[in-house]
Amino acid sequence: MRSYTLISPAKINLYLEIISDRSDGYHELAMILQSIGLADEINVQSLSNQTIRVNCNHPQVPTDKSNLAYRAAALMATQFPQALAQYGGVEITINKHIPVAAGLAGGSANAAAVLVGIDLLWNLGLTKSELEELGATLGSDVPFCVAGGTVIATGRGEKLSPLPSLDTIYIVLAKYRSLEVSTAWAYKTYRQEFGSSYVIDTENLAARAAAVHSVPIVKAILNKDTREIAQKLHNDLERVVLPAYPQVSQLRELFAAQEGVLGTMMSGSGPTVFALVESEKQAQAVKLQIRAAVPDEDLELFVTHTVINGIQVTSSMG
Ligand code: ATP
Repeated sequence: MRSYTLISPAKINLYLEIISDRSDGYHELAMILQSIGLADEINVQSLSNQTIRVNCNHPQVPTDKSNLAYRAAALMATQFPQALAQYGGVEITINKHIPVAAGLAGGSANAAAVLVGIDLLWNLGLTKSELEELGATLGSDVPFCVAGGTVIATGRGEKLSPLPSLDTIYIVLAKYRSLEVSTAWAYKTYRQEFGSSYVIDTENLAARAAAVHSVPIVKAILNKDTREIAQKLHNDLERVVLPAYPQVSQLRELFAAQEGVLGTMMSGSGPTVFALVESEKQAQAVKLQIRAAVPDEDLELFVTHTVINGIQVTSSMG
């Protein structure tokens, strides 16, 4: 049986601006997404019958049709029925390292890995943009997860404009295991409290999205100026998540007070908080300082760094 093993990296948001409400219930966003070394490992293996099966080592992740990796495989089966008949179904095994419901796009990264893996298993030869287009039907973050790196994402997050790769920046991540923030709740609350009531003119929107290319953090990225990037981190969703989740707010303050931290922010809709740090040594020291301040076992801490790629194949068999 043929199989591929792929690395599926998480992302953080260096920048998240909610530009306006949309009539379809989504929001027009301007984001800068960054792939990080914290990643899941996904194995896709062909099956002799035409079924899709998902295994996952994480108790909170469903293995039924609601799993995003399952949905990615089901989409490929619908799109390419002849390939399904020729090559058979697929067994997907997810080795989870990315915290779940954390604002790190773990599920989206898994879905992107399955698209890339099945493309290989079934010899489809799809291009990156074809894979991204398929990904967009599964979720707003899936297209970014295919190729990853450092990217400006507009629309609902699916319109991608790559930026030059950053030199490695070390990152400390903190998340309370038992704390989950619903992405839908965060956006809904933002809409209720700060939503715009004006009717959207799509031409203006395109201009507004284009203007993202000149926001200060983009200039800092183009200059590969880590200190400046760290100073210009931004996330509109902090306005609703921090007041509602004091633990997240405390983590933010704790990170900001640590020596060696260049900047700190919540990722996506949270509750993960990250800090950009100058070196790996400092990142390890910051992790120890946070652990000493919060001895609670419920708090997960990770040291990782920026990476320049999304889904990567690490091995193949058969
Ligand atoms: P985003 O940053 O894109 O909002 P997230 O990091 O907040 O995503 P995920 O880890 O993708 O959130 O999980 C969100 C929900 O999706 C969880 O409640 C989980 O049960 C479900 N889920 C479905 N498939 C997966 C998967 N493959 N990995 C993780 N969670 C999954």
